[in-house]
Amino acid sequence: MGGRIVADYNPSVIEPKWQNFWEKEDFYKTDEEGKKKYYVLEMFPYPSGRLHMGHMRVYSIGDVLARFLNMRGYSVLHPMGWDAFGLPAENAAIERQVHPAEWTYANIEAMKKQQKALGISYDWDREVATCAPDYYKWTQWLFLLFYKRGLAYKKKASVNWCPQCATVLANEQVEDGGCWRCGDEVVVKDLEQWFLRITDYAERLLDDLKLLDGWPERVRTMQENWIGKSEGAEIRFPVTGKDVDIPVFTTRPDTLYGVTYMVLAAEHPLVDDLTVGTEHEAAVRQLVDKARKMSEVDRSSTEMEKEGVFTGSYCINPVNGKEVPILVGNYVLMGYGTGAVMGVPAHDQRDFEFAKKYNLPIQVVISPRDKFLQVEDMQEAYVDAGVLVNSSRFDGTDSVAAKKAIIEYLEDNDWGTGKVTYRLRDWLISRQRYWGAPIPMIYCDECGPVPVPDEDLPVMLPEDVKFEAGKSPLAEHEGFLNAKCPTCGGKGRRETDTMDTFICSSWYFFRYTDPKNENEAFAKDRSDAWLPVDQYIGGIEHAILHLLYSRFFTKVLHDAGMTEAVEPFTRLLAQGMVNKDGAKMSKSKGNVVSPDEIIEKYGADTGRLFILFAAPPEKDLDWSDRGVEGCYRFLKRVWRLVDRYADDVRGQNGETAEYDKQDQELRRAAHTALKKVTEDIEERFNFNTAISAVMEAVNTAYGYMNEKEDHINTAAMAEFLEMLVLVLAPFAPHLGEEMWERLGKEGSVHQQQWPAYDPDVLQVAEVEIVVQVNGKVRGKLTIPAGLDKEAMQKQAMADDRIGQLVEGKQVVKAITVPDKLVNLVVR
Ligand SMILES: [Zn+2]
Ligand SMILES: [Zn+2]
Repeated sequence: MGGRIVADYNPSVIEPKWQNFWEKEDFYKTDEEGKKKYYVLEMFPYPSGRLHMGHMRVYSIGDVLARFLNMRGYSVLHPMGWDAFGLPAENAAIERQVHPAEWTYANIEAMKKQQKALGISYDWDREVATCAPDYYKWTQWLFLLFYKRGLAYKKKASVNWCPQCATVLANEQVEDGGCWRCGDEVVVKDLEQWFLRITDYAERLLDDLKLLDGWPERVRTMQENWIGKSEGAEIRFPVTGKDVDIPVFTTRPDTLYGVTYMVLAAEHPLVDDLTVGTEHEAAVRQLVDKARKMSEVDRSSTEMEKEGVFTGSYCINPVNGKEVPILVGNYVLMGYGTGAVMGVPAHDQRDFEFAKKYNLPIQVVISPRDKFLQVEDMQEAYVDAGVLVNSSRFDGTDSVAAKKAIIEYLEDNDWGTGKVTYRLRDWLISRQRYWGAPIPMIYCDECGPVPVPDEDLPVMLPEDVKFEAGKSPLAEHEGFLNAKCPTCGGKGRRETDTMDTFICSSWYFFRYTDPKNENEAFAKDRSDAWLPVDQYIGGIEHAILHLLYSRFFTKVLHDAGMTEAVEPFTRLLAQGMVNKDGAKMSKSKGNVVSPDEIIEKYGADTGRLFILFAAPPEKDLDWSDRGVEGCYRFLKRVWRLVDRYADDVRGQNGETAEYDKQDQELRRAAHTALKKVTEDIEERFNFNTAISAVMEAVNTAYGYMNEKEDHINTAAMAEFLEMLVLVLAPFAPHLGEEMWERLGKEGSVHQQQWPAYDPDVLQVAEVEIVVQVNGKVRGKLTIPAGLDKEAMQKQAMADDRIGQLVEGKQVVKAITVPDKLVNLVVR
């Protein structure tokens, strides 16, 4: 081989070559016939324009898994699509006068091209876009399914409204009381809105979290907190001098005798009744106006200054007949509980601070067991359990037991009831927007709201619309607005709200199993063959809403007999962020590296390898140009090794080979790497340690090459190179194919069976080690090579002679030099 010029590793040639091959061969078409099935899914992206590194990371993770499982003999479903409705497309339309569809589909094309350039193994035949009529037809159909099952309803709700833009804003779009876009003052407006009754499923969504042990603990906790179950009592406080009660929910009925005031939300219907025309009206009005301009997030924040104003009225605590003042407060939310909160300052820290600020009385009703609590001495609320005091017939009762006893007492006297509440509220899905799935309802003066019949679906988005800031294009479009009533044939008016895009993404994983079905959302047998998704991969920012909504949809579809699955995602991997220079990559920080740049400079295989090597998938990753260079050099080294020996090793199968010590070392390096890669992918997703095991093996091979030059054992090298190419193929799929071809192998590397390591090869090496006790040489032992510290110590202690020497003594520590020495320090 002397003098032969080694061909350079040239990703810009080999990557397009194999991408074309895969595309031409329809290479990643899903095999529906296989026995063992596995559904790998990465969250589908919003088509914003270009892929960023976060995308590249999540797709690389999914792709390694899909390719690996395929080689392990699974039929793998690995689809991709587009979460394609949403506000940015509409804003682009307003700013640039391009239709949202045009903008969206152009972005999809650009991003798809990038995904192909990354060499991701998607079955593109199954691509879905939520903005396509053949998809949103079924989104609409599913809305009607919910409606028919009593799970979709319309009601008046308070929303953030920008008068300037004439549109509803999400809570997150209100900044310091102003519109995020125009800065105009936001008002709260009551509008008729559509909701999905997710609260009906609160208990099941909570309960079934226990089925999800393949999810990160923190994601389950976030869902649990979001659902926010609390058990307690609802108590009615009659208003003095009026024939009306204030219902209040509390999780601490044991503190009921300690109520010293009552606070209503600004939106509470009683506020006007109690204050209009009184001397308190002006002050109350001021607080109400201020509170209603704040977002709910701000109002429930612990940091916000709590404010309250007296209404002039009192209500009566039913258990002790005491009159307490009624206030209006900026921190009480109408949407949670009953919109009223009873103040128990002695036993709730927020109430304690509020009572101190406004000089409201503090009454101790729970006492610690070991001391007497004096109000004057209290620096903070006493929130722990204890014994009831100042609580009439319940004095001396344990506070935990008292909860149940007081609920019974309330129920016996018809003052209240035991109650379970949830923080979770029904899902507001109406958007006064164009670029979304139209809600398929028609309003008729005679018949009321009428669902659009199935045969008239989809309700198509009209294309000839005007986009102007501050107007809902659908509400202005006469042709869309006017519709015949499906029931009586009379004049009807279409719903002009579109659906929250989170609905579109709550069922797309079903559609992938049957993406071209024109007769139903998906056939049950096809979805049952794949669902639940075995491995879902996506960002932690979706830990609550998207995952919760998808779980909700799956349960409703299960109840409707459309799927056997009760949960959509068996295992979830929440991948970490991609940072650079210690901060998340962002345009404003100027620290963005784009996938395109990396592909152009080093090739997709290097980019994929780096992104998987730099950190375990669930941890944040720090971008490092040197790290990328290192991965590039590594792939070049691999290529040179293969290229140098490819011709020598052709046709070698190792059947008659004899191996010397160095040959055995080379073989052991290959089998060790194979074992490590197999276990790291399959059991732990530790792609980073898997890759470093391959790097170590390649180092060994280079050492072998330097020692043996052209006198290598071709059987050992043949085995090494084949294993190397196979284990590297899922990470660097293009180079994998190229090397497989260079080795003269048949077919595609990605259709080979994943090799099995030989435990005997791993075991072959033994080493002689020195055993010392307290620094004195006491013997020599022959043990397997490569043992860790504990195993080496164990081997030494198991030796008869050493065992006698240390018997009855305590081994304080063991000092080891791998494969060379154990020194036992005993006392
Ligand atoms: Zn505005
Ligand atoms: Zn009608």
